[in-house]
Amino acid sequence: MTHSSDVEEINYLTNFRKKLHQFPELSGNEQQTAQTVVNELKLCNPTTIITKLGGHGVAAVFNGGLKGKTILFRAELDALPIIEENTFEHRSKYVGISHKCGHDGHATILIGLARILKTNPLLSGKVILLFQPAEENGNGAKAVLTDEKFKPLKPDFVFALHNVPDYDQGTIIVKTNSFTPSVTSLKITLKGKTSHAAEPENGINPDMALQELISAIKSLDDNNTDSETFSVITTVYATLGSKNYGISADYAELHFTIRCWTAHQLNDLKEKICTLTKSISKNHQLKHTLNWFCEFDSNNNDNEAVDYIVKAAAHNAFKVIEKQTPFKWGEDFGAFTQQFKGAMFALGAGKQTPALHNPDYDFPDEIIETGIKIFYAIYKNILNND
Ligand SMILES: [Zn+2]
Ligand SMILES: [Zn+2]
Repeated sequence: MTHSSDVEEINYLTNFRKKLHQFPELSGNEQQTAQTVVNELKLCNPTTIITKLGGHGVAAVFNGGLKGKTILFRAELDALPIIEENTFEHRSKYVGISHKCGHDGHATILIGLARILKTNPLLSGKVILLFQPAEENGNGAKAVLTDEKFKPLKPDFVFALHNVPDYDQGTIIVKTNSFTPSVTSLKITLKGKTSHAAEPENGINPDMALQELISAIKSLDDNNTDSETFSVITTVYATLGSKNYGISADYAELHFTIRCWTAHQLNDLKEKICTLTKSISKNHQLKHTLNWFCEFDSNNNDNEAVDYIVKAAAHNAFKVIEKQTPFKWGEDFGAFTQQFKGAMFALGAGKQTPALHNPDYDFPDEIIETGIKIFYAIYKNILNND
């Protein structure tokens, strides 16, 4: 960014971010947001703009004339089904939907980068700015990766950042290997047979199986973030029977979220849970179903990619924190880092910023510039090393 126009540029981007914030859309419904992004990208003269990627995804491809590496930077488009508590002017105009993960800010950072690439065109290689849909439900990354329009892009490196409150504003938080865990959600149903409440022996009530299952599954929990075998199993919902006092219950349902540091550990755990559910339902003569959904692959950060982030931070004199254990939230950029060399890192959003997904959260505009500068330095570094 050139010095004299810095303030003007940041004001422009802040206004853009606030515009996105006012018109939030849920995962899979980001039509208007995608259009707003496309309109802005068109002003930046990318070589191509790809739309409808894995849903409402958008990618701007900037081509240098000479051969070189392809670097992808990712932001997200979707908001959350949360009622915004804030009363400021740029609050959400849609009741019950709001940008509570800062995806409006992440998208703005990529727009800022596009605007720099317009005034400082690439000489070699390629930069892809990907605005991914449906991150919050874990579907978007996979949908983009399997989209035929994405396949020819073949990035050599992929990068994404996520703002994280509770760290000083502008701090860069890095970690090699697992950065976020593999996460899945699980629904188990148990089906028996109703009978008169006076004669439960004539029916098949899933009550005992339900409690056995909860304790058996919870015994696999190891919620110690320092542990290699970390696995946190959270019971989110359970139900049994109905409030009909003459009937012995015939149906139960149990829902969990499960997270482990690696995809491999999560698969092992899933197998154990399947075996337990099978044997417990069989012992109680119950039918059962198991349903896995909302799956997030763990972010597998590559050493070289993390080095590039650290160098880019040093170049800008940004403070770097090397985190020892992964963050506990799931992030579907893992689908990218499982497949391509790359890394996700965190950008401190400030100790005063409310936690992600809280009703009073708002992306701090002060870190837009930090995000742009670090992505820009990463790209410069990789292409210079080519
Ligand atoms: Zn989120
Ligand atoms: Zn997010």
